[in-house]
Amino acid sequence: MNQTFWRLARVLCLVLAMALLAGCGGAAKSETPKTDAALQKLAALGTPTDDLYRTSYEIFVYSFCDSDGDGIGDLKGVESKLDYLEVLGVDGIWFMPISPSPSYHKYDVIDYTAIDPQYGTMEDFDSLLAACHERGIRVILDFVVNHTSSEHPWFTAAVDYLKTLPAGQEPNAADCPTIEYYVFNHEGGNGYHKIEGTDWYYECDFSAYMPDLNWDCPAVYEEIEAAMRYWLEKGVDGFRLDAAKHYYTGQTDKNVAVLHWLQTTAEKYNPEAYLVAEVWDSSNVIANYYASGINSIFDYSFGNHDGRIIKTLRAIGVPSMAKEYAAKIESVEASYREKNPDYIGAPFLSNHDTGRIANFVGGDEALVKLAGAMNLLMYGNAFVYYGEEIGMRQGATDDPSYRAPMLWNEARADGVTDCPPGCTLPESYFFGSVEEQLKQDGSVLNYYRQAIALRKALPVISHGTTTKEEALNTGCVAAERKTWNSPDGVQECLVLYNFDTEIAQLDVSGYAGWQLAAGLSVAEEEPALKDGTLTLPAYGVAVLLPAA
Ligand code: CA
Repeated sequence: MNQTFWRLARVLCLVLAMALLAGCGGAAKSETPKTDAALQKLAALGTPTDDLYRTSYEIFVYSFCDSDGDGIGDLKGVESKLDYLEVLGVDGIWFMPISPSPSYHKYDVIDYTAIDPQYGTMEDFDSLLAACHERGIRVILDFVVNHTSSEHPWFTAAVDYLKTLPAGQEPNAADCPTIEYYVFNHEGGNGYHKIEGTDWYYECDFSAYMPDLNWDCPAVYEEIEAAMRYWLEKGVDGFRLDAAKHYYTGQTDKNVAVLHWLQTTAEKYNPEAYLVAEVWDSSNVIANYYASGINSIFDYSFGNHDGRIIKTLRAIGVPSMAKEYAAKIESVEASYREKNPDYIGAPFLSNHDTGRIANFVGGDEALVKLAGAMNLLMYGNAFVYYGEEIGMRQGATDDPSYRAPMLWNEARADGVTDCPPGCTLPESYFFGSVEEQLKQDGSVLNYYRQAIALRKALPVISHGTTTKEEALNTGCVAAERKTWNSPDGVQECLVLYNFDTEIAQLDVSGYAGWQLAAGLSVAEEEPALKDGTLTLPAYGVAVLLPAA
């Protein structure tokens, strides 16, 4: 209780300090009394855990916050925004690649154990990492080891060597060891690129500037292990594994073996290392990848514009779709758990490749909020893409526009970055900036803060196994039960969603002793439980707990 109180007092002070800094009045009085009261109530519900079941925030450093006025976001800029992340409530960060790279997005690395000068120095990183850890925020780094940059010294050495090789002569690794780090042949074909001035081709699944590493080469394993070890010994808490189903394109069993090696190798240097892989595919395929024993795989069956969350929200008022929601969570979780009983879910709504959630739902504020709650009440380590918590909008349908500058304020001053190359800004934003939304009870941002606070205060939400609660799955209400074998005994909760534009009234008289612990509401009216009837406003969410 004490710990909860001080944590809350600290966050309240941070919010007031931000309001004062933003020049919005000298009176030390909250402008969001409803949000403050709700957050206090939520924090009093329980005690957060400090483990791998977190709320994590994906940051594209380039577009996040610029500390030195060159227009490009940097690590010092991120550090200056840790107060904000604490106010938001997240306790994990995934940094998109920060190592040297010729591209703006940096998914083609030229040095796995350095910091791109655009973003700062290794000293800046050490300072940022320490500041995150002081606040209880764990840090994972994007680890892009399907391919390197075509400008990586390993690759340029191999290409230079092939260019000097007389026609018809086979390469010799004794003359150029990194010739074995990539896949070179004379046949070429789909996914290969020709080296100019030679009759050699190299494998590159994504692009000519991203040559694929050769996962049959023992030296590649040594190099990758050295890189992982470097970051883990520095104190980094784990990695996000880019493009994991492309290590061996189309060969799941071999990719599973690589993931198993990456997980066990990371654990050699930090037994609590957390790894989450990108396997952009259906839940059936993702389930097979869980056989690797990896902690987490992003759940594309629920995230993105074609995932189950958005599908459900596009069918508001359709009972059959509402009914499927909890059943789908139950069956997908079971399919993953069957392959790895210790798996940790990795739900997300959107990321740097998918586009913005606000665009998926046409800027409908209620749906933006409800989508956020659905994601944040899922099992595992839930991910939020920077800007998602303010319902940030994209200006065009292309990668750079999905990665637009974080909108700290309307004036686009004080750390707001320039656009990454090719990014189109929207002509207007649906819901305003961080600065504005922090001052509004009922903003998307303050809704997100409450959903995150709820997730943290009741660890049964992130730790519990989900089953559909058939008796309460009626009309457009979806009901799920979560059951967690916690160190202190079995914990349970019920989570209910009203996927309807109309108010729902549910008979819960069969649930004697259960209490309404918390609700999330997109409008004034709050969920209520009285005389065995649970009232859920349109788009409302309720969490029920059994009698203590
Ligand atoms: Ca900068």
